[in-house]
Amino acid sequence: MAKLVIDLLKEQQKRYDELKVAYQNFPSMVHLETFAACNATCSFCVYPDIRRKGTRMSDDLIDKVIADLTAITKPFTFLPFKLSDPFMEPRLARVLKKVNFTLPLARIEIVTNGNLMTAEKLKEVAAIGNICKLVVSLNYCQADIYRRMMGLDFDRTLQRLDILHRMKIDGEIYFTVMLRRFGTYTSDDDRRFVHWAHSRYPAFKVELIWTNDWLGDRRVPRADSCVPNIPCPRWFDLSITATGEVAYCCMDGDAKYVKGNVNSQNAIDIYNQPELSWRRKTGMTRQDAGLPCNRCNYLQASLTSKVVHSAAASKQPAC
Ligand code: SF4
Repeated sequence: MAKLVIDLLKEQQKRYDELKVAYQNFPSMVHLETFAACNATCSFCVYPDIRRKGTRMSDDLIDKVIADLTAITKPFTFLPFKLSDPFMEPRLARVLKKVNFTLPLARIEIVTNGNLMTAEKLKEVAAIGNICKLVVSLNYCQADIYRRMMGLDFDRTLQRLDILHRMKIDGEIYFTVMLRRFGTYTSDDDRRFVHWAHSRYPAFKVELIWTNDWLGDRRVPRADSCVPNIPCPRWFDLSITATGEVAYCCMDGDAKYVKGNVNSQNAIDIYNQPELSWRRKTGMTRQDAGLPCNRCNYLQASLTSKVVHSAAASKQPAC
């Protein structure tokens, strides 16, 4: 585990160095939460505790934010959610069409629990260009654990995934589809999930990602808890909530550390305020960056290849 963490820290530093060159003046990633609503109650997510639950951003403010983002002159990732499930949003197709038309540099990524993906909604999404990835945060392959940890019906989610898989095989879905699990790396459950997912849904990719603790608001099964002595790649993001407040980053689930408000400020001006620019330019460590970074152990990491390789070398039982 210690070697893994050292490798991940090197990856974080490398990622920061790349972003520092290309994204000083524009975000590399924008979360836009148009409707703060999710149908799941995942035990590893802070959504059940956030104060803005149920808040809907007005159409006018959505359009205003999209107009602000036209100032971005480099390819960037656009995510139509923050702490919400995009398929809870009846305006999803409208928003994505507008983004696709107005922001040709936006590469759209959708992350969902998948439980609300009907064939009709998937067809609407598939008709929109520039979607590069749809990630289904599935996490478990055992119905009872899934229900307990995420508060959703496993069979219903599998029905939705079956539809999506058939559409992918038939060529109706052009973008990459991933099944995601918040991994622990050392757990046999991670390997079991990878085996199960590959075998039931061979047209999908499978991804295990490092589990983070939402600035200490959730307990996670990881050995280290120290604040890494490096800068953070999340300093190149904008994380816009349904109220218009811009949260500090993806880990600031309840927007306790607000950077600005798109109701009264331009989104790019919020990104470029002097204190935040200075942080990005100097590459100061998180410990020197003040709250909330000086108490954050966040790591952005995919563990898939390590687990897949070790899973291939061993025989794990199917779920
Ligand atoms: S709070 Fe954590 S994840 Fe967010 S920008 Fe700071 S160090 Fe990065």
